[in-house]
Amino acid sequence: MSDYQAFMHEAAYIGGQWIESGAEERNAIHDPANGELLGHVPALGEQQMDSAIEAAVTAFEQWRHTSPSTRAAKLKAWYDGMQNNREALARLMTREQGKPINEARGEVDYASSFLDWFAEEARRADGKTIPAEDPTKALGTIEEPVGVAAIITPWNFPLAMITRKVGAAVAAGCTTLVNPATETTFCALALADLAEKAGLDNGEVNVVPGSGKQFGERVCNDHRVRALSFTGSTEVGRKLLEQSAATVKNNAMELGGNAPLIVCEDADLDTAVEGAIAAKFQTTGQDCIAANRIFVHRSMYEAFVERFVEKMNAMPVGHGLDEANEIGPLIHADAVDKAQSLVDDARNHGARILGRDQSQAPGENFFMPTVVADFTPKMRVAAEEQFAPVAPITPFDDDAAVIAEANDTIYGLASYVFTPNDARIRQYIRGLDYGMVGVNTMDITGPHVPFGGVKQSGLGREGGHVGMSEYLETKYYCLGNLPEA
Ligand code: NAP
Repeated sequence: MSDYQAFMHEAAYIGGQWIESGAEERNAIHDPANGELLGHVPALGEQQMDSAIEAAVTAFEQWRHTSPSTRAAKLKAWYDGMQNNREALARLMTREQGKPINEARGEVDYASSFLDWFAEEARRADGKTIPAEDPTKALGTIEEPVGVAAIITPWNFPLAMITRKVGAAVAAGCTTLVNPATETTFCALALADLAEKAGLDNGEVNVVPGSGKQFGERVCNDHRVRALSFTGSTEVGRKLLEQSAATVKNNAMELGGNAPLIVCEDADLDTAVEGAIAAKFQTTGQDCIAANRIFVHRSMYEAFVERFVEKMNAMPVGHGLDEANEIGPLIHADAVDKAQSLVDDARNHGARILGRDQSQAPGENFFMPTVVADFTPKMRVAAEEQFAPVAPITPFDDDAAVIAEANDTIYGLASYVFTPNDARIRQYIRGLDYGMVGVNTMDITGPHVPFGGVKQSGLGREGGHVGMSEYLETKYYCLGNLPEA
């Protein structure tokens, strides 16, 4: 048995028990690079989802009263478990999700770092003293866990999107119900395995595999589930916001993006090309903060395109377990079809298509990295999330005009600008209508920063000192009739 196979549970984890489902209620998981069957995961029905809610509600009554240091110790043990099994988790992720093994190792580190961070934050969920006008009163606030939190996560970061939410919720004293994307259920169950070994084995962390739609409807209608945190598409986020209005839940939404990456006339060409390659092709382009539109000042446009294409064409494409490969498969054949249709639409509207021929793709779920040069805002490739290794690039002449064009989208998650000029940096930070601005780097994430978007990219922030706030309620108190000093 390979190291990672020990983590491949074909059972849900509910109330500290591993629950198997019948043969009829399960989903097959395949390696997206070669179609090989990896195993089956449960797809829970309504009754089992109800039992999971019950388990999280029961567990909350105990967990809410645990000390911050108890929560911290268990989160640290979970972090240690992930680090001690880094290679196995990375290999599992590459087989299930497809990302190149080096990126998978990076995600294990990134994902586990949230457990470490929130272990420390657990001790800092402090309240405030409010100066009272009346000397016979003392006023203040305390922070309390909101309750049971339902968590729905996507397949592109199958560990990190879970730990970023569950780490914060558990640190706050909440219990959690995690519904992972069907495609990457084994990764979620591997996290449950390590949570159990870390002592989070009494219903604090429940992994409830099955249809996201069914899970969303079920938790949204249950008043005992007090928070809903979702990462995924804006379309599904809108539905969940509507549904959760029924029980007025606390909502945290990390939704889609359409990140601009702007290379100014004074930028260092090599730094900008390196940054743009990384910002576009990590996770094979299937990343909500991937550069979706690259704007390059006309004075260096052709040089940039030439160097970008040269570097892109040198990226090896193939199975992620081969250490050499930098581009893996897309998650489904549908994603390949979508990438091709975006490129075809751009070509039909006059864009230049550059890169290797698609006939060189090493399998049906692969899309060879492609540049769409001279894109215009009317093309679908500029308006939609590509979620593929497709890089639209276009020239611009004027800073103010490119900021306006970059902002002309319903999304507002990440943005990037390359320039050494201080005044220009401030102009872009102020002007870009995005939750995050990377300047001369695309490496902007980490447990210590507030990740999130504006406009239809979401609500709330994950990570940083504000990352626990989605899972805490502020209770105000007023002590009256005190003796005057
Ligand atoms: P998706 O279709 O929205 O699916 C995400 C999750 O939602 C899956 O677990 C899915 O479950 C579930 N789901 C689907 N329909 C649902 C419904 N009606 N009610 C409740 N849950 C439902 O998104 P995706 O294509 O997997 O992921 C890519 C998207 O995620 C992109 O738009 C990307 O930008 C966004 N994303 C955002 C961030 C961020 O931090 N802002 C991070 C990563 C990804 P099933 O598997 O059962 O269908």
